[in-house]
Amino acid sequence: EVVNGNSSCEGYLPKAEFYKVEAILRPWRLPHVATALIKMGIRGVTVTDVKGFGAQGGSRERQAGSEFCEEAFVVKVKLEIVVSQDQVESVIDTIIDEARTGEIGDGKIFVSPVADIIRVRTGERGRKAERMTGGRSDILSTYTSSNDS
Ligand code: ATP
Ligand code: GLN
Repeated sequence: EVVNGNSSCEGYLPKAEFYKVEAILRPWRLPHVATALIKMGIRGVTVTDVKGFGAQGGSRERQAGSEFCEEAFVVKVKLEIVVSQDQVESVIDTIIDEARTGEIGDGKIFVSPVADIIRVRTGERGRKAERMTGGRSDILSTYTSSNDS
């Protein structure tokens, strides 16, 4: 089932109210990406230092005559952003705009449905737990003067 009308959505995505956007990016692009996300009202982001390999590969080192695999990783940063369905495409667009250099190693974005969200402090679940004060919904509702969009 197609989640939205965006042509970039090929209909692979299972329908859900919330999605996790997981982006593996170049560490030095993180400040640009974070600034743009905050500007668009994204208030919840988890960042992890990671290592990986892909088309870019990594530096290889010979040790005792064999290729030492531990060295075949490139340092990356992983961003995890859980958002409501209507915010997924704009988050993806912003990440691409801010992270892309056009060179091999720019990274990848994975999108997956999230079944539920629980705010530990209050026990709130679902939509109430996903909403954040001053978040994108709040910002958008200021323009549309609707408080339940
Ligand atoms: P409160 O209970 O007042 O909402 P809290 O400290 O329990 O506050 P947050 O500060 O909102 O919760 O979030 C805690 C951590 O959870 C953040 O530092 C971030 O890593 C992660 N996080 C929160 N919301 C999201 C989200 N929507 N997507 C990804 N990570 C999130
Ligand atoms: N969708 C939330 C809101 O509009 C924001 C989620 C997030 O910042 N990750 O309040």
